[in-house]
Amino acid sequence: MLTRPSDATATARLDIDLSALLHNYQTLRQRAGTAEVAPVVKADGYGLGAGPIAGHLARNGARTFFVARLSEGVDLRKALGAGPVIYVLDGLSDPSVFSAHDLRPVINTAEQYQRWISAPDTLAAALHIDTGMNRLGVRAGDLDALPARGRRPLTLVMSHLVCGDEPNSPINPQQLTAFRQIIERFPGVPRSLANSGGHFLGPDYAFDLTRPGISLYGGGPFGKTVPDIRQVATLKAQVLQVGPIDAGETVGYGASFKARNPMWIATLGIGYADGLMRSFGAYGFATVNGERRHLAGRISMDLCCLDVTDLDVAVGDLVEILGPAQPVDEVAHASSTISYEILTRIAPRVERHYI
Ligand SMILES: *Cc1c(COP(=O)(O)O)cnc(C)c1O
Repeated sequence: MLTRPSDATATARLDIDLSALLHNYQTLRQRAGTAEVAPVVKADGYGLGAGPIAGHLARNGARTFFVARLSEGVDLRKALGAGPVIYVLDGLSDPSVFSAHDLRPVINTAEQYQRWISAPDTLAAALHIDTGMNRLGVRAGDLDALPARGRRPLTLVMSHLVCGDEPNSPINPQQLTAFRQIIERFPGVPRSLANSGGHFLGPDYAFDLTRPGISLYGGGPFGKTVPDIRQVATLKAQVLQVGPIDAGETVGYGASFKARNPMWIATLGIGYADGLMRSFGAYGFATVNGERRHLAGRISMDLCCLDVTDLDVAVGDLVEILGPAQPVDEVAHASSTISYEILTRIAPRVERHYI
């Protein structure tokens, strides 16, 4: 797939565990009951590769996928070939592009709705109704003004949870009630409300189709690791150099880290240009030979440093930054962000391997 120097020279690599992906998909399917589970593979499958991810899930029963951008839809159709349903969350722009690639728009505004019903080609589409996010979607109060859709096939009515990752938020039941009222206007049309978190809020949230993203990829539904969601992405970096420093010496730019005692420092071939958050430097950690150790000093563009005092570490050893020993939610927390940002920031220059 990649034409460049061999694995041996790659200083950072990303292993994507397709059996863990499938395990997570099955977990979500069990939780969804009779509802169809439709993977969200926007942003290149949350950074893990939309084509290989969706291909593997399609071979194992997934029939419907969601992307954000139209260009992502075009690429995904190429990767999957004919058959699976692909919805584009961004809405309806040029209907002819949707027809040409057999993509379904998610209609977000009255203007898009008008374009949809007056397009020369008959396009199947979803209608996104805003129940509180105030981001995308037609407001409930504007539904009455929409003209009749005639024979245009509406294949999904959907809304999106504001606080799906907060199981105790009162906004969840409020949105559930609002969504139930809205769907009464669309008898016979399949309904969808739940993202990953929605699978863990109770069976009422499943409706006919769910749209999980992050939990397929190893993120816990509530920003915390849960036992039945496995880590999918393992990010490892090579040790490029290892050596001792004396007490009082500093590590990295700005001399922000100062050794209190003599210590050993391993320099890792991964930095913020590979997708590490620079904010991970302060509280970050990495796992080497089964031991979790703190990073030392600032993360730089291509490198960061790890305290490996008293460990048997050599140049060329691989250190885990993300993976079973370093769950994505913990790394996100230490980086002051969320799992989504950690995964989608892993840079293209990091080699992807599907295992
Ligand atoms: C991104 C997205 C999802 C998936 O959300 P997760 O929290 O990753 O499960 C579902 N629906 C919509 C509309 C989205 O934008």
